[in-house]
Amino acid sequence: MPQLLLKNGLVIDPASGLEAKRDLLIEAGRIASLSAKISPPPGCAVFDAAGLWVFPGFIDMHVHAREPGAEKAETLASAARAAAAGGVTSALLMPNTSPPMATAALLKKYRARAAGLPVNFYFSAAITAGRAGKRLSGLAGLKKAGALAFTDDGACLEDGGLFRRAVKTAARLRLPLLDHPELSGLSGAGVLNRRVPGFRLPAIGSESEVFAVLRDIMAAADCGPVHLQHLSLSASVGALRAAKAAGVPVTGETCPHYFTLSDRDLDPRDANFKMKPPLRSPADRTAVLKALADGTIDVIATDHAPHERFLKAKGFLKAPFGVIGLETLAPLCVTELVFNNRMPKLRLARLLSANPARLLGLRRKGALTPGFDADITILDPRAEHRVPERFFSLSSNSPFKGRRLKGWPSAVISRGIFIFKDGRVIC
Ligand SMILES: [Zn+2]
Repeated sequence: MPQLLLKNGLVIDPASGLEAKRDLLIEAGRIASLSAKISPPPGCAVFDAAGLWVFPGFIDMHVHAREPGAEKAETLASAARAAAAGGVTSALLMPNTSPPMATAALLKKYRARAAGLPVNFYFSAAITAGRAGKRLSGLAGLKKAGALAFTDDGACLEDGGLFRRAVKTAARLRLPLLDHPELSGLSGAGVLNRRVPGFRLPAIGSESEVFAVLRDIMAAADCGPVHLQHLSLSASVGALRAAKAAGVPVTGETCPHYFTLSDRDLDPRDANFKMKPPLRSPADRTAVLKALADGTIDVIATDHAPHERFLKAKGFLKAPFGVIGLETLAPLCVTELVFNNRMPKLRLARLLSANPARLLGLRRKGALTPGFDADITILDPRAEHRVPERFFSLSSNSPFKGRRLKGWPSAVISRGIFIFKDGRVIC
């Protein structure tokens, strides 16, 4: 029975509220015990975690792995390497592949392909047939085939009647329904938050997100739980806060770019700053930070969206929306939230592990409780370096290239096995 002992790390466990120096013993892929001092059993491997932060493995519930359909941008295998390097031990994959994850047969095929990978990949399925927004896909059958959530991400399900039926069905099936809140008619051909003098780039007004958020909250109040994806605006998080206070079953996520950057940081010549929703105003960024701190936002997810270099080279107007995020998740959270905004590490563990595990119904994940899967992300708070030009991802469309960040993963363990150590992915 393989054993591994992590010695002297600062253990951060959201389930017990523990943040203290502890030894942690792993046995047969599970957490065996956690205590102030554990002597290594005979033959047990030992990892010295002194000075390091030991988190439950990060669970990223918003990842585009691009397989099938765009394997030059990313594959399941390359996404797994990027996830491992980023400290992400579990990820929920989005269904806007080509063809879309909207049938049980396709879902089963790609679940089988992902099964051998060192990172736990879970699949969401499209809410509507062909992700076309016209009629519901066979949601019960997709659940039976292994879907863990429903979403038409990449697009909003704008038909309000159909959306409410989807929310009711997902509630009955007890699976989360995730919405990309955006009314396309209001976004139009917009590519950024506000016009930049000297550039002919149309804007995406904030109402395209806010009206969809309000619609979703009203549906949640009547029909069942709704999870709001990638929130970017002060008005959105304000509405989420009020809805939660009123007892509406609604949750929300944001992404590192929305709490790290604003539209003032954007280079309109560089399409690596182009994503949906767009980078918003500094006041919106501050509101998102506050909503992360006070628990209004439940989850940090990356919306990892790889695109081939030639596509992003088409310029801000024509390039596709989206940025990669798996490999910069940890240092952006540590630098921006823990160091710059003094977020307690326990709250970060809730946002990155405990809450997504709860939302997705992942038992035995999201905490360091004995008996739970030994998925562990070990960060080095002193490790400081620039975001490189090249990534484990097949794509490199990051707006953070060259940025100095602190708090990079030192080692990552999935089901008791190292999948990243000393800067190398082991899978
Ligand atoms: Zn989306």
